Amino acid sequence: MKIANEIREFKNVINGNLLSSSGGHLDSIDPSTGKVWATIPCGTKEDAELAVETANEAFVDWSSLVPTDRATYLRKVGDYIVQHGEELAALETQDNGWVFRETQYGLIPSLASFWYDAAGATAIASKGETVQLGTTCTGYTLREPFGVVVGIIPWNAPLFTFTIKAAYALAAGNTVIIKPSELASVASLRYGELINAILPPGVLNVVSGLGNEVGETLVRHPKVKKVSLTGSGGTAKAIANSTAENPKPMILELGGKSPNIVFEDADLDKAAYGVSLNGIFSGNAGQFCVGGSRILIQRSIFDKMITKMKNLLNEQIQFGHTMNPISTMGPIANAAQYEKVCDYIAIGKEEGGEIIYGGRHGGVTLLPEHPELADGYWVEPTLIQVDNNSLRICQEEIFGPVATVIPFDTEEEAVAIANDTSYGLGAGIWTSDLNRTQRLIRQIESGNVWVNTYRRVGPELPFGGVKESGFGTDSILEYTREKTCYIESE
Ligand code: NAD
Repeated sequence: MKIANEIREFKNVINGNLLSSSGGHLDSIDPSTGKVWATIPCGTKEDAELAVETANEAFVDWSSLVPTDRATYLRKVGDYIVQHGEELAALETQDNGWVFRETQYGLIPSLASFWYDAAGATAIASKGETVQLGTTCTGYTLREPFGVVVGIIPWNAPLFTFTIKAAYALAAGNTVIIKPSELASVASLRYGELINAILPPGVLNVVSGLGNEVGETLVRHPKVKKVSLTGSGGTAKAIANSTAENPKPMILELGGKSPNIVFEDADLDKAAYGVSLNGIFSGNAGQFCVGGSRILIQRSIFDKMITKMKNLLNEQIQFGHTMNPISTMGPIANAAQYEKVCDYIAIGKEEGGEIIYGGRHGGVTLLPEHPELADGYWVEPTLIQVDNNSLRICQEEIFGPVATVIPFDTEEEAVAIANDTSYGLGAGIWTSDLNRTQRLIRQIESGNVWVNTYRRVGPELPFGGVKESGFGTDSILEYTREKTCYIESE
């Protein structure tokens, strides 16, 4: 797909209209070049309030539809975004650096699958239970939508996080406002525009702008009845403070520091791929919440595994234009995150970690044959060997293509290291021992456990975290509340 050279302007989507903001605009930077490529509205308090009023009005009709009618709309949305898949994938790629081969062939089909799944779930959102209480009284529960739901989403996977919130909240009969990250709003604004070609006006709104203005106004608003955040722990705390006086239910999908554990009885070739290319060194440069950023390897196979992982990285990591189908890893998505990742590589060295792979950064160093990418935010896949899980690089979320590698001797030791974190989002276990599998699934404190696979996520099963990785899941019933009714006939 060809990328246009002129700076493109994107607008908020409120009540089915495309609107600029009196707050002006923010620049969107292409992280592979470091250059401005688009502008997004710098939304104001008034924009956020208008979206809430609009969504609140639209709620009356949307929530009154029978489930199958809502399902028809959502299925059409799925079809429509597949038709526009190439365009959306290209926007996501240019906005946050996730390589096109993954946004086009992985991301877009997965978005459609969530819309179709949500369409199939509309009836579930309306189901309750009935209890006959003697001969004259019937008791039953009723599920109903909350009203206006706000989805606050991050920069690392905007279209995915937008979809899992909007699809299920809408399926349950809520109306929705999405607040994308000021660091990557373009794809979400266009996505909102496309979805609005299908849905009635006001049912789905998208307002871009700063977190402490648009985000805070939305979450504080008394007409907003539920908030779903995918983001950092700091933002979760800020939202908890903002809503303290007007509490509302929340779904929190937060950060992680996930262990990916390889035992000596594992299929080592499969494990090497699973912990490196699939586990952390992805097309969006390890900027995904369940990145297996702590790789634990049993000491007896440590050297063998490291060799296999290095070989894979040498063979398969290819930097280059993110739209080029041969590029396998993109840049860091924005300048601030780039600084953070580079700082952590330096901190790792200061803490005594040994860089056993990668460690370099910068377009000039990593892409000398591409002067046009010199100012992009490129970081090499980096493995840092450590022997102490209490180091900052083992405890703090780095959110980039950087993994610590930690040897262990026994299963007990592996579990202790795995759980020695404030987070609890994902965990990988590579073993051929079924008994060990059963033990570890119970012992490891995390919302998701993958055995002999990693990072598998889909609409069939819920996805969420424990500990400081959050609570709740973006699934259909979470976007409903229960009402209990008694009907007495005498
Ligand atoms: P962030 O918390 O900085 O920002 C997330 C969103 O919150 C943005 O839209 C931002 O504008 C908004 N925001 C900021 N302050 C706000 C406030 N006071 N009130 C309301 N909204 C506010 O997160 P980020 O840097 O964009 O994303 C990276 C983080 O997201 C990482 O920690 C990552 O692990 C996490 N993440 C988690 C999951 C998951 O499913 N658990 C998935 C993807 C990303």
